[in-house]
Amino acid sequence: MARPLIVAIDGPAGAGKSTVSKILARRLDFALVDTGAIYRAVALVALRRKIALDDDVGLQQVLDSLDVSFHMEGELNHVFVGAEDVSEAIRAPDVSLAASQVSARPVVRAGLLELQRRLARHAPHGAVLEGRDIGTVVFPDADLKVFLFADPTVRARRRFEELFEKGVDKSIDQVLSEQNTRDKNDSERDVAPLKPAADAVLLDSSVLPLSDVVQRIEALVREKQS
Ligand code: C5P
Repeated sequence: MARPLIVAIDGPAGAGKSTVSKILARRLDFALVDTGAIYRAVALVALRRKIALDDDVGLQQVLDSLDVSFHMEGELNHVFVGAEDVSEAIRAPDVSLAASQVSARPVVRAGLLELQRRLARHAPHGAVLEGRDIGTVVFPDADLKVFLFADPTVRARRRFEELFEKGVDKSIDQVLSEQNTRDKNDSERDVAPLKPAADAVLLDSSVLPLSDVVQRIEALVREKQS
């Protein structure tokens, strides 16, 4: 049987990876692996167990007992830890920040490597993986690598509007400052820093609408399939 086709979509927070990956996965009938959600799940469990975010022994215990799964329902990709739907809980601001801290720990990155690969390889047709280091570390031999980025102010505005719709009261300056902290953590860490793979297709969603981004990536995947 042919191995599943692997599409890696990396880039900073707010560039549109989630929206693009979700639509792509649906159109292609591929599995969707939201790797950020997995790091967030680790952070959530660590915070709940009051484990310090630099306590590698404690984090290893979290990893050893981690049971993360995804369940697509209409437009929503639900994330479960055990039987609990944590889709909302993992998006809380303290969990976002904690996720970017635990993701800098080599023990966490190494511990999640196999899980990410397994989730993708078990997909019947192919998988879209969204993250930061999919094309560089998790699947350096991915069939297609995309690095989706955008101007920081454009990304912050998108996030601000998303939060506003959810009724979260936060200024755009606050959103931008939190985003800058996460960007800095992600791109300056020693292990698997955020950077495009040498062979990635670079797409800038500040100039390209997300619908065009999807179309371009879909066309590239179809080329690989034919
Ligand atoms: O993509 P999302 O914002 O949900 O990711 C949450 C955090 O997990 C990011 O800030 C990043 O630090 C980390 N992450 C990572 N590697 C990935 C995916 C996410 O380090 N492949």
